[in-house]
Amino acid sequence: MALNNLLKISIEREWQIQKNISVKIKQTFPIYGGDICNAYRLETDAGIFFLKSGKADAPKDLFEKEYNGLQLLAKSNTIAVPRPLLFGIDGNQSFLVMEFIQKAHAQNDFWGIFAEKLASLHRCSHAQFGLEEDNYIGVLPQKNNFQHSWSDFYAFQRLEPLIKRCLHDNLLPPETIKQGEKLYQKLPEIFPEEKPALIHGDLWGGNYLPGPDGHPIIFDPAAYYGNREMDLAMTRLFGGFDRRFYWHYQEIFPLAPGWEERIEICQLYYLLVHAILFGGGYVQQVRKILAGF
Ligand code: ADP
Repeated sequence: MALNNLLKISIEREWQIQKNISVKIKQTFPIYGGDICNAYRLETDAGIFFLKSGKADAPKDLFEKEYNGLQLLAKSNTIAVPRPLLFGIDGNQSFLVMEFIQKAHAQNDFWGIFAEKLASLHRCSHAQFGLEEDNYIGVLPQKNNFQHSWSDFYAFQRLEPLIKRCLHDNLLPPETIKQGEKLYQKLPEIFPEEKPALIHGDLWGGNYLPGPDGHPIIFDPAAYYGNREMDLAMTRLFGGFDRRFYWHYQEIFPLAPGWEERIEICQLYYLLVHAILFGGGYVQQVRKILAGF
């Protein structure tokens, strides 16, 4: 979709206000691949940038939260992310401008470096699970109220709100409420003790690219202090990353025994998100997992 002129003017105005620089947008090219937003390569007289603009029904603070998530990951100084520059709202359209990732060929040691850098991110810890603010996964609100235990956090900040939403949207039958409750009770037995870890939160294959140095850059986060197994489980939802990635991660920062058996429980959250956003087969996968409880 071509970028409309009003939005262009609004972005230039915000650049001046927020960054105190006068920038002229010369050309824009649509980029395809995202699920949620319109994305563009933005050519300006100050260089090339990446622009996301929200579809009309997207939440108004979606990009403010994405900006904050990228800042949080950037501040960890662990794995590369595109530097966020500015966000704003123009009428009913919101936008976010960030550093443009010039995609290059992955280096030979790409997966080892990815594992090492992700492990460094996961070593950034916090006193509790959660975050100072709620944010989004895709366009779905993600609650981040701090909790001392991962089981409580996962049950009541992640699974329960989405199971309720699925019931409200008639995607799941009423008996899933009981199945969900049984699962919440079992979570303390399922998950061993694990420190809160800063995680990307939505680490599927469409949310990283090899940057100009051939090393991974991750983007489009739904970041919070969670259980790092959530990131590993998300990488496995659609086929999985290269085997070398898991091998290196386990060498550098081993996961508690049995993590592979917990993948499905971690993926339940992502499947609920997909069931709500896309329906279809994801709903069946959610039902199948919950039916085990
Ligand atoms: P959505 O929120 O709609 O899923 P993404 O943030 O995933 O959008 O971005 C859409 C596509 O744009 C990605 O699949 C990726 O290929 C590309 N992309 C994302 N961020 C950048 C960036 N900073 N620079 C260049 N390309 C990017």
